[in-house]
Amino acid sequence: MISSFASSSYAISIAAANATEITNHDHRVCLFSVVICPNIQVHREESKETGDKRHLAVNLVNSTKLKDWVDDLSSFHTRHTKSEFIESVAYWLKSELQSTCGDGVYFHNYTQIDQETSYNLKNIICNKEGSMANGNSNPLILISAHYDNRMQNISQTNARAPGADDNASGVAAILELARILSKVNLKNNIQFVLFSGEEQGQWGSTVYAKHLQANDTRFNTVVNLDMIGYPPHGLNKVIIEYDLGNKITTNDIYSKNTAHFIENIASEYTNLETTLRTLGKTDLIPFEATGNIVIGLHDGGSELNPNYHNVSDTTSTLDIEYLASVTKLALATILNLDELDHTSSVFGAQNDRIMKEQLLFMDSKH
Ligand SMILES: [Zn+2]
Repeated sequence: MISSFASSSYAISIAAANATEITNHDHRVCLFSVVICPNIQVHREESKETGDKRHLAVNLVNSTKLKDWVDDLSSFHTRHTKSEFIESVAYWLKSELQSTCGDGVYFHNYTQIDQETSYNLKNIICNKEGSMANGNSNPLILISAHYDNRMQNISQTNARAPGADDNASGVAAILELARILSKVNLKNNIQFVLFSGEEQGQWGSTVYAKHLQANDTRFNTVVNLDMIGYPPHGLNKVIIEYDLGNKITTNDIYSKNTAHFIENIASEYTNLETTLRTLGKTDLIPFEATGNIVIGLHDGGSELNPNYHNVSDTTSTLDIEYLASVTKLALATILNLDELDHTSSVFGAQNDRIMKEQLLFMDSKH
């Protein structure tokens, strides 16, 4: 490692994304980048080829496959966590994930007791090992979506509920990401997770976040996709949800900087304009509470989709090309995060004073 500055590709990438700053040799950047500045050029030369590969991979996102998965998921009578269908949805998803992600698929089983009734439920996980993980079992990124759904009246356990936007759209994106990334050589470990019990109050993610914490598994970041197929703000608008406050405050700055990082990615790889917003009640909350850096992508439909938690939340109401755009953004985010120097532990460097100062500085520029 040259130095923690030089290996801070995160800072370099953000700086590189802002060409004006680099060409002007902005003194504020260079003040913090005595070692970074000479390396920016190196990074940019290196990234030309890898950058092309990233664009090629992003263009593999297939809207027909996304639509088929949304259709399949919403054709289950319901995916209500307490319904008789949830188990068959889980097995179907496990098999789909196996076909896209490969052999590293398994159930994370958990039991939830609610109103004196016990529910045996499943999260579905796929691990993809990175080439430079060096036996480090900690994934760089956990990318998740919940597969359960509900009707407005949550006690209507067995009522018809297609849940296309909420959240077949996010699950379809995870399957497509797994499909494409299975053919991409990533440096770092990545974990795909499909949760049950979200609509009941983040059951699956809460149990899983605690399970990971108990096993001392740490992430550099957790990205969640919840409702990404119905664009009420317009076909080119997406919301990036970042963490502000909640249970732990020391992780806030990293979440916000990651959000800014993704903003740049959106403009480079997609037609999407981004709006930053603080986290809603999603599966990210339990991960935030265990200290992780969390980011959500969301279409804004939780307030504005008239079909939300309704029998009318069907595939035909979605814009599949929009879903494909947000999937591209998620994919480009993973690919760009993967290019960062993991050994510098950019996101995990929460005890690294220098890194903190850098990230704080980056933030002050927004
Ligand atoms: Zn949802």
